[in-house]
Amino acid sequence: MSNATVKKPRLTTSAMIASIASEGQRVKAAPFGKALVELAAQRPEIVGLTADLAKYTDLHLFAQAYPERFFQMGMAEQLLMASAGGMAKEGFVPFATTYAVFGTRRAFDFVHQVIAEENLNVKMCCALPGLTTGYGPSHQATEDIALMRGVPGMTIVDPCDALDIEQAVPQIAAHDGPVYMRLLRGNVPLVLDEYDYSFELGKAKMLRDGRDVLVISSGILTMRALEVAKTLEADKVDVGVLHVPTIKPLDTETILREAGRSGRLVVVAENHTTVGGLGEAVATALLTAGVTRPSARSHCPMPSSMPVRYRRCTTATGFRPRPCRRRSRAGSVEASRRAVRRDGAARRAYPQNATRPQGARNRGSQMNNSLLLDGKIVMISGAASPRGIGLATARLAARHGARVAILDLDEAAAVEAAASIGPEHRGYGCNVVDKDACLKATAQAIAEFGRIDVLINNAGITQPVKTLDIDPASWDRILDVNLRGVLYLSQAVIPHMKQQGGGSIACMSSVSAQRGGGILGGPHYSAAKAGVLGLAKAMAREFGPDNIRVNCVTPGLIQTDISSGKLSDEQKASIAASIPLNRLGNADEVAGAYVFLASDLSSYITGAVIDVNGGMLIHG
Ligand code: NAD
Repeated sequence: MSNATVKKPRLTTSAMIASIASEGQRVKAAPFGKALVELAAQRPEIVGLTADLAKYTDLHLFAQAYPERFFQMGMAEQLLMASAGGMAKEGFVPFATTYAVFGTRRAFDFVHQVIAEENLNVKMCCALPGLTTGYGPSHQATEDIALMRGVPGMTIVDPCDALDIEQAVPQIAAHDGPVYMRLLRGNVPLVLDEYDYSFELGKAKMLRDGRDVLVISSGILTMRALEVAKTLEADKVDVGVLHVPTIKPLDTETILREAGRSGRLVVVAENHTTVGGLGEAVATALLTAGVTRPSARSHCPMPSSMPVRYRRCTTATGFRPRPCRRRSRAGSVEASRRAVRRDGAARRAYPQNATRPQGARNRGSQMNNSLLLDGKIVMISGAASPRGIGLATARLAARHGARVAILDLDEAAAVEAAASIGPEHRGYGCNVVDKDACLKATAQAIAEFGRIDVLINNAGITQPVKTLDIDPASWDRILDVNLRGVLYLSQAVIPHMKQQGGGSIACMSSVSAQRGGGILGGPHYSAAKAGVLGLAKAMAREFGPDNIRVNCVTPGLIQTDISSGKLSDEQKASIAASIPLNRLGNADEVAGAYVFLASDLSSYITGAVIDVNGGMLIHG
């Protein structure tokens, strides 16, 4: 290897303000400048001002179209803001442009006193937000949102792409009061048109749903979040993206609704320091509403060395200029993967309202937010299926601090499923119809973990046939897996629970047992699941004195592999229409009921049945 130092090419001004678009990405040129020119044709009170940066904020298009309404203030940002305030007081709607660092840090006092305190109609559109410049720390506006959030009456917009910008311009002009918009200039990527999206001032929008992770993001980090979500599909990690283009006022209603859905890791991604930006705004909303707890939050901040490294174009944030783009992106995606796998690297908040159980220990960062089952050992049968209720329950239990033993027919699949949650979990091959296999898997789990606190009898199979078509072999198969399996695995585990002074068993039944037929299961399935209800209630009576609780869940139609491909979209829509909550259920939603029954929150509940059916069956 040669010791010769490679001389880095000196970056030119145009490289310093390089487009953030990837190679081959669809772009629109100067969306801000063009939208403003178009709007100004109908709104003669709109004027444009800049502090020597017309070309670099795309305001030059406005200057060319309306030279008499354009004011070049020179390199004097305080003057820029004060003049804009004066013009607003006279009834104009000034759009004042500069770089974000200058518009916020340098002109802060003028923005506050002249514009905000008078609630004047000035629209500050400031380019190079966060880390989108190669100029280095002097031009990196990584705290602009924090500064502007503190300004009374200030509306803050952080657009993602060209569509966001061109739709935001008329809306911020129509808004009565000061607005700070982070500006993307030049060739701006066009992304959101693929997501049936439109900008609405003050509204957050779900761009894609996902059951494992919810990324709440603003600005260009929404673009990155969408890329990460697509990449993680290959790893079967289902990532939802909630775009929050208006940071103040915050759309807390949408954020609380989406972040409050159980079982999802919530990650906030923003092109800003962790102090005072979107992350803190979201955290405050979640904490205030009791959706999460202070200990459930962690940061992945910009390293303090970031600005200096960034000046050399070597950051690992995923949004640096083109020369380093490929490594940057890979780093960003890999970081997200790690965050999802380790549940620990990114800023996060798990939805939960639970109080910390007395004596619960904090077992490192993984456990900070995982308290309902902290330290418990949970064994789950039929939990290797990637989209199944069992694995969703295993994931949720792990997030709540449990170590999990996954049992399934295929040992390799069970081991892989356990490893996908984390190294402290284990997978075992076990056919629940085989008594010896149940005893063996239980012994292996006891040897590994020392105890079993919770047993979840989840394994099951179905068959959509009519009564007259049930042959003896099908009857045996369906009854064996769904009912005999519950007996055998409970028989294997209960002696240990008795010995250790108690435990919780949750068994999988079905709405099919209650209604005399579900959607997909035949009468033998209904009979087996009804048998589970009887067996579980009898075990609840028998083992209550041993402090062993036994309960059941009765889901309606849940979207898992058991039903996959068996119903057309039309059939699903018509079933959903007959359900009060107007939709089919998700595996995570059954997992929530299981985890509740496993936890001490249900300590006085035994012999009970929890419906998880969206109202498909409501008892009298
Ligand atoms: P799924 O097919 O994804 O999961 C079932 C799991 O059980 C699979 O991993 C499978 O390998 C395992 N399994 C099958 N036979 C087994 C055996 N003999 N020993 C050990 N493991 C075995 O389907 P799901 O929807 O997640 O089903 C989980 C449970 O929920 C089942 O008992 C099912 O009857 C019940 N349920 C499902 C729905 C629904 O709509 N999905 C509704 C009500 C009840």
